[in-house]
Amino acid sequence: MSTLRFHALKETYNRIPVLIEEKERRSSIFGANVFNEDTMLQYLTKEAFNSVQDAIKNGSKIDRVIADHISTGMKEWAISKGVTHYTHWFQPLTGATAEKHDAFFEPIGNTRAIEKFEGGQLVQQEPDASSFPNGGIRNTFEARGYTAWDPTSPAFIYGTTLCVPTVFVSYTGEALDYKTPLLRALQAVDQAAVAVCKYFDKNVKKVNASLGWEQEYFLIDLALANSRPDIVLTGRTLLGHSPAKGQQLDDHYFGTIPNRAMAYMRDLETECMLLGIPVKTRHNEVAPNQFELAPVYEEANLAVDHNSLLMDVMDKIAARHNFKVLFHEKPFAGVNGSGKHNNWSLTTDTGVNLLSPGKTPMSNLQFLTFFINTIKAVYDNEELLRAAIASASNDHRLGANEAPPAIISVFIGEQLTKTLSELENVTNGKLSPEEKTDLKLNVVGKIPDVLLDNTDRNRTSPFAFTGNKFEFRAVGSTANCANPMTVLNAIVAKQLIEFKGEVDVLIDKKNLKKDEAVFNILREYIKKSKNILFEGNGYGEAWEKEAKKRGLSNNKTTPEALKAKVSKKAIHLFGDLGIMNKVEVEARYEIEVEQYTMRLQIESRVLGDIARNHIVPTAVKYQNVLIENVRGLKEIYGTSFKKLAKEQMLLIEDISSHLESLNSNVTNMTNARKTANNLEDIEKKAAAYCFKVKPIFSDIRYHCDKLELLVDDELWPLTKYRELLFTN
Ligand code: ADP
Ligand code: MG
Repeated sequence: MSTLRFHALKETYNRIPVLIEEKERRSSIFGANVFNEDTMLQYLTKEAFNSVQDAIKNGSKIDRVIADHISTGMKEWAISKGVTHYTHWFQPLTGATAEKHDAFFEPIGNTRAIEKFEGGQLVQQEPDASSFPNGGIRNTFEARGYTAWDPTSPAFIYGTTLCVPTVFVSYTGEALDYKTPLLRALQAVDQAAVAVCKYFDKNVKKVNASLGWEQEYFLIDLALANSRPDIVLTGRTLLGHSPAKGQQLDDHYFGTIPNRAMAYMRDLETECMLLGIPVKTRHNEVAPNQFELAPVYEEANLAVDHNSLLMDVMDKIAARHNFKVLFHEKPFAGVNGSGKHNNWSLTTDTGVNLLSPGKTPMSNLQFLTFFINTIKAVYDNEELLRAAIASASNDHRLGANEAPPAIISVFIGEQLTKTLSELENVTNGKLSPEEKTDLKLNVVGKIPDVLLDNTDRNRTSPFAFTGNKFEFRAVGSTANCANPMTVLNAIVAKQLIEFKGEVDVLIDKKNLKKDEAVFNILREYIKKSKNILFEGNGYGEAWEKEAKKRGLSNNKTTPEALKAKVSKKAIHLFGDLGIMNKVEVEARYEIEVEQYTMRLQIESRVLGDIARNHIVPTAVKYQNVLIENVRGLKEIYGTSFKKLAKEQMLLIEDISSHLESLNSNVTNMTNARKTANNLEDIEKKAAAYCFKVKPIFSDIRYHCDKLELLVDDELWPLTKYRELLFTN
């Protein structure tokens, strides 16, 4: 009997939900483990406090002496909460977060010791960084990188460690992490948006990008998850026959949350409260054992940190509840996958959401300006935006049989479509007073009431306007949001700079009034970027055909999609905005291409192992049982045995034929892998894995899954889909 599977199943029978007691109100524990403004006021001198605030708001530098004050304050606060260590917390390009703990403790001779945390240790560290991906930026002889404090994301305590969010850069200044380019992109969009805001309100000094992510995930019993080598090593199932009941009854979405999952969520939420992650929404997702968690949106850099932190915390807390969290975009074939919607908007320091229609025609013109510029930015850079969300695991959603598709399009709803088509007819050049009045009263002035009933949300669109924000839905559930957020903010920044330039020309050279100039440029943008707007069903052949006609890209696989990252256009974009230089862009590309290859290589090896070492022997074992049976029948019944053994013999042959195909496919896959591994060129290697190795996965899987249906359940070694998905 396949011991591991049944052992694991047995373990799950006695599971009970962990008892979670919430002694205090959430509002009173919120941010308790964060070095936030309140804590700073308590632990810092006024000068130090002001210096941090100035760094947060205006990006000013923190003086060395002041840094000592700040680190001392942080240390005292941390020690008062039982903390013994500190770490620079950063997000290298591995996709995981990184930390190396150092103790505050320091011996000072004569068996005496003190607790120490100096300004220098807060501000900068040099982790031995040679084993993080760097895409060839650092030669081994100068394999040094350093982490530098990011004061815009507050320090926090996790367990007994003080964590200081930092950027991670090479010794020569190139970004080696997700945060550095993000911060630069946020600065670029801030400057560009402020300049445009000045047309409408001279008081605006800063514009912040906001991000509200929605994290989808699966919760699988730990013992069951651990019984599957594919889940353990790749985060997804590489084989497994669909259960008789899947999600066809639609009985999981928004259904009652199972008790154990509920206990997990409450435990998780308490930890999030302490860490200042403002989680608010939880619910069941479409698939069995699939859930979603969403916070209240925050400033984008902080939101990105919070999402990375959350994913770590989710993992850790899951162990307490005997769960494993699956973040993979498609852990189970034939079952809904997971994404991470990125809700994005821009907000001024005067409190105006630039993507929310206002109360006056002028504020609505401002809304339309940002709205239309965003659409134009997405249109001009759709391929780059697609590249920003490309990964081996997200390929199972985008471009596969699931919404959203690999084609980037923008959904804006019927009402705004109407508004745009009216704006498209604005007169070229100066507008008559009547036209202006008409525009203000009947087009621009009408938006607010219109949006209230903008309820027809298109769930299949990869990039949708949802009333006061854009929702980028194609982001994968495993992704670090920094990647798509860097690109989105960068392309909008670039677009706003262009817009400002074009409007100014009309004002200065053509003598147009400000609003006339704005209307004129917007009209042109609407005309130019129409092709990206799409309200229909986002996946299927019809749209693919139509999208092709419109000139939209449809890069279904990561190797194809990633190329846009190193196009001349992209290198210029990032370079001009000071977000990444050519070396940084190319290094990132290289890392992602190689990561793609490595993921597929691991999957391929695991699949080969499981097929040969688990499935084949099991099928043979069962076949022998059948053979034994046939032989017995022959012994007893002599020549007439055939009538009685007919079905068994068919089964024996059926099994043989699957075994034969399975085996030859594994051999083919291994050979294809060998050929791919011999390729030096990383692009060619990735392409070989994508187009030569990966297609064989499904052939192997097909025969394994068929055998699962034939072989005695008692013998089957791999925990089945029904057990993974319906145990809770
Ligand atoms: P859903 O898309 O599931 O209907 P909601 O509309 O409630 O969910 O919002 C999802 C996420 O969008 C939440 O994280 C929420 O905080 C965030 N969000 C709401 N308004 C904004 C905004 N102006 N900018 C960015 N994110 C926002
Ligand atoms: Mg959403």
